[in-house]
Order: sequence, then structure tokens, then C-alpha cells
Amino acid sequence: MNSGKSALITGVTGQDGAYLSKLLLEKGYRVSGVLARRSTDTLWRLRELGIDKDVNLIDGDITDISSLIRALQISGADEVYNLGAQSFVGSSWQQPVLTAQIDGVGVVNILEAVRIVNPAARFYQASTSEMFGLIQAEMQDEKTPFYPRSPYGVAKLMGHWATVNYRESHGMHASSGILFNHESPLRGIEFVTRKVTDSVARIKLGLASKLHLGNIDAKRDWGFAGDYVEAMWLMLQQEVADDYVIATGVTTTVRDMCQIAFSHVGLNYHDHVVIDEKFMRPAEVDVLLGNPAKAESALGWKPKTSLDQLISMMVEADLRRLRG
Ligand code: NAP
Ligand code: GDP
Repeated sequence: MNSGKSALITGVTGQDGAYLSKLLLEKGYRVSGVLARRSTDTLWRLRELGIDKDVNLIDGDITDISSLIRALQISGADEVYNLGAQSFVGSSWQQPVLTAQIDGVGVVNILEAVRIVNPAARFYQASTSEMFGLIQAEMQDEKTPFYPRSPYGVAKLMGHWATVNYRESHGMHASSGILFNHESPLRGIEFVTRKVTDSVARIKLGLASKLHLGNIDAKRDWGFAGDYVEAMWLMLQQEVADDYVIATGVTTTVRDMCQIAFSHVGLNYHDHVVIDEKFMRPAEVDVLLGNPAKAESALGWKPKTSLDQLISMMVEADLRRLRG
């Protein structure tokens, strides 16, 4: 099936970039991705999904507008998904300037590149629930005021408002998806869910015995990345661009998520989890809980995967990897 459409994805080697590429390829898109050159192998996620040969990779970096202009020209993209980011909150205190350059100014770079090369292209910005930070409403939706608590959240807020501003100033079809935490077997190992599921698998196989964590009382609204990339695509199929919260509407502590993961292999998290100051953050986002009502009514989008199913899927994938 060939839809005749072409998409360009920044952050194509990341968790969401891999799932989104797969979804768009299945829909018959020509998919191109901006590949930020690294000395290590970053194509493992595309390989795991069996699509590394199907995505057209174009060298580039979000901090280099000339490379983005070139990528837009080469790909001839009708839809642009800006997923590239320094995406780890924890690192953003160590690299606040780089985080601002990639997650804040980088968004202006790509918006400007789209405006110059093809202002009719539809644009998606990967915004985040971290912008809500110190929450101003019990359940956060598109109208909830923002209060970021990390250099990551601050930089992402710039990217969000830049997207809104290009829509309002230049009439561009630019949408911002305010996505709550979403996870999968392809999640980076530094994030708490994957750190837990990888450790559970190691402990089960006798390769480790303890898991060091920070604030296990923090609460997150966790969904499955495979479900969330569908929402990104749906946003760009709408007549009018807009902003949407994508979430499950359920929040769970890190502690309870650990309990789910350990009990999946018949273990008790109390026997293995060690609280370690090293993983505490200078400012914490204590709780996030999203209200996806607008996405459901306007996009017809609903999450399909429960936290239990998600964590089980991740533990099984980590067991398979370690056994392999
Ligand atoms: P991820 O797995 O960390 O992927 C980030 C991607 O950005 C990687 O492909 C990375 O390339 C690329 N990248 C980093 N710096 C770049 C630069 N200077 N130029 C070009 N590309 C660069 O993140 P994810 O979980 O897929 O998230 C996708 C997007 O959604 C991010 O913008 C993230 O901030 C946002 N978001 C994520 C969540 C979530 O829970 N997952 C929630 C809300 C918003 P390398 O592979 O070479 O490092
Ligand atoms: P975030 O919501 O984007 O920061 O996603 P993370 O998965 O990195 O963190 C989710 C929550 O888990 C935060 O409140 C962290 O403080 C908490 N957490 C507790 N222990 C850890 C840990 O060892 N690593 C990480 N990444 N987060 C932890």
C-alpha cells in the first residue's frame, strides 16, 4: 500500500521514532529520519522492529538548521514529526544549556526550516507532561497552567509555545502533543520503568540481587508508546491543528509499578529495592495524572494497554534479551 505521503521524523532512533516509523510504513508512507551521528550503534530499535532498511536516514542535527533544511528538501515531507530531544529529565540538571539548545531552540530551528522549505507541511511537536511539573490541577488537561520543575520541562515549554506561535503567526498546521510518560520494551534503560524491568529480569536470572532507586513515592500516568504514536499521527490528520493531552487517566506510584514488575516473576520488591540518594532529583515532579478526554472526543483516541500489560511485556522482553 502506498499512500503517496512522505514523513520526516527527528529522533527516529528513539523509542517513539521507532514505533512511529513502523506505524507510518504500515500506512504506506515514505519515511525519512534525521540521523544524529553518534559513535555508537543507535539503530537497534529500528532493527528490533525489523524496519532499519525501510527508513531513509538523512544525517542531521536539531541544533543545525542547515541540516534540517536539507533533510526537508531531500525527504519532500508532507508531515514532520519533531521527536528529537535530550529526553531524560535527570540529565537536564547536568546539561541545562544543551537541553535548552536541543529541546527549546531546536524546536524553533525545525519550525523555521519547515516555514522556509514547505510551510504547508503538517508539524507535530513532542511536548510533555513535565511542563505541568508542580501541578496546578489534580487532573491535568490542555487548559491547566504549566509550572515546569526541571531544565527539561523549561526547555520543552519553549518548544510548546513556539509551536503554538508558528500556528498563530504563520498559519502553519502545527500541533503540540502533551504526552504523559509512555514506555515500552524499547524505552531507554535510564528511565525508571525500563530500569526496573531490566533489573527484575537480571535478578530473576541470578545476574543481580539489588535495584537502587530514588523517590519511589513519585506517581506517574504511564501508557504504552505503541498506543501513543497513533495519537501523534491522528493529530496531523485533523483539518485544524491543535494541542492535545495524551494520557491514560490513571496514576501509579513507582513503588506500585515495582510491585507489579517483581510479582510478574514471583519475587517481592521489598527484598531487592534499595533507596539511594543518588537518584533523588533537585526538584521533583511528585504526581502526574492526565485527562485525555479531548483526545478521545476530537481524535477518537483511547489508550489500549494497561500498566499491568505494559510492565509484563517489558519484563518478558528483558528476560528474552538476557537469555539470548
Ligand atoms: P528517546 O528514546 O530518548 O529518543 C530521543 C531521540 O532524539 C533519539 O533518536 C536521539 O538520537 C534524538 N536526538 C537527541 N539529540 C538530538 C539532536 N541534537 N538532533 C537530532 N536528534 C537528537 O525519547 P522518546 O521516549 O522516544 O521520546 C520522543 C520525544 O517525546 C522526545 O522529544 C521526548 O522528550 C518526548 N516525550 C517523551 C515522553 C515519554 O514518556 N517517552 C513523554 C513526553 C514527551 P540518539 O538515538 O542518537 O541519541
Ligand atoms: P520522568 O517522569 O520523565 O522523569 O521519567 P523517569 O522514568 O525518569 O522518572 C519517573 C519518576 O521515577 C520520577 O519521579 C523519578 O524521580 C522517579 N524515580 C525513582 N527512582 C528512579 C531512578 O532510579 N531512575 C529514574 N529515572 N527515575 C526514578
